[in-house]
Amino acid sequence: MNEKTCIFCIIVNKEAFAAVLYEDDDIVAFMDIKPINEGHTLIIPKKHAVLVEELDNKLYLKLFPIARKIAKKIKEKIPETTAINYFIADGEDAGQEIFHVHLHVIPRKPNDGFGFTFDEEYYNRLLSEKERESARDKIFPI
Ligand SMILES: [Zn+2]
Repeated sequence: MNEKTCIFCIIVNKEAFAAVLYEDDDIVAFMDIKPINEGHTLIIPKKHAVLVEELDNKLYLKLFPIARKIAKKIKEKIPETTAINYFIADGEDAGQEIFHVHLHVIPRKPNDGFGFTFDEEYYNRLLSEKERESARDKIFPI
């Protein structure tokens, strides 16, 4: 996928419709076409990048302040919103479907049916101190 075929790049170039909520020189935020709840917004860098690690720090650091501002406004304007998920699927196995970095701002309300699913074993598995240290040591130092 490149900038010619990437739907988010097409949106950035204003060649496809998006209900744009925010835009500056580097970032666009627009309403998700298939919202989990009302107000579900996507925030993207204008420059094409598939993964977070490809973003320069300037772009990366611009995403969350905008997300927080949008989340605050959603809570003000859509009162049934009781919580927010900030979510990035960074790679196909993480659930990424559009291969252009996007930060979801997902308004949540009680029993809205959205969430992560885990297998039975997950709930019964707690790592020991040694196992947690071993997990840390595998990636340490950062
Ligand atoms: Zn793109």
